[in-house]
Amino acid sequence: MLQIFFLDIDDCLIETSRLGKEELRVLRSALERLNIPHPEKITAEFEKSFHRLYDLHQEKQLSAPQQEELEKYLSRVYELQAEIITKWGQVKKWSRECFIFIAAEKSGVKLNSQQTATCAENLWKSIGGHTPFYRDAKRFLHKLITRKIPFYLISSSDCRLKYNDEKKLFEYVPEYSRNLKLKRLKKLTGLDIPEENIFLGDPYDKPDPWVFRQALAKAKKDNPGIFYSVMIGDSPKNDLEPAEKIGMDELIWINRHKKAISASKFKTVAGFDEISV
Ligand SMILES: [Mg+2]
Repeated sequence: MLQIFFLDIDDCLIETSRLGKEELRVLRSALERLNIPHPEKITAEFEKSFHRLYDLHQEKQLSAPQQEELEKYLSRVYELQAEIITKWGQVKKWSRECFIFIAAEKSGVKLNSQQTATCAENLWKSIGGHTPFYRDAKRFLHKLITRKIPFYLISSSDCRLKYNDEKKLFEYVPEYSRNLKLKRLKKLTGLDIPEENIFLGDPYDKPDPWVFRQALAKAKKDNPGIFYSVMIGDSPKNDLEPAEKIGMDELIWINRHKKAISASKFKTVAGFDEISV
């Protein structure tokens, strides 16, 4: 039977979440160029708050003080995104704009919309320039492309938000966020992967199954007849559970760092080389 693959992008095909020295240096120098006070402190706070959320997302155990800091951070996120939550039913907690804005607040600095946008733009540009393909992922993509095996990419939103100075709230325009992410993913479209086969979580982000349904519907339209659907991702919660919910046939967890989560209900591999096509 025809196999069709659905692949997560960030931290599955390309290494995205690693917040390296270079990205942080870029953020700090953006703050400096804007003459924002305490650039170093703000950058350090940004790094810490990002890692707390990331560690939680990776199902790592946080210490009690870390947990407390994270809760404080998130409650501010909920305030700043009140309108977004009402309108879209979801908080955009990975918004780098929001991380930067709150980190500055902690140093007693109120960033305006322009400053927030400039810092986030510089940070994302740096992230985009330092997100190499995992070598096994590139080999796998190459196999799919040369053997003409259909595949679709399903990726989270980058949650690109705009701060509204009058309302003192963040706003979300799905098309704006989506277009910026597609720009960041140029290396994928550069591989001749058509943009219409890349599905992004704007407006309804993972783990909402919405984006998975969009991708599956497109696969059905492109490939009439019965096929066997395989979802591959690095996050059981964000990639595999929603894919399971909408009835995909096989769910494979790329657990590169061999995170010790005992007895995952999903088929687990350390990399793409273990997946046969
Ligand atoms: Mg991922």
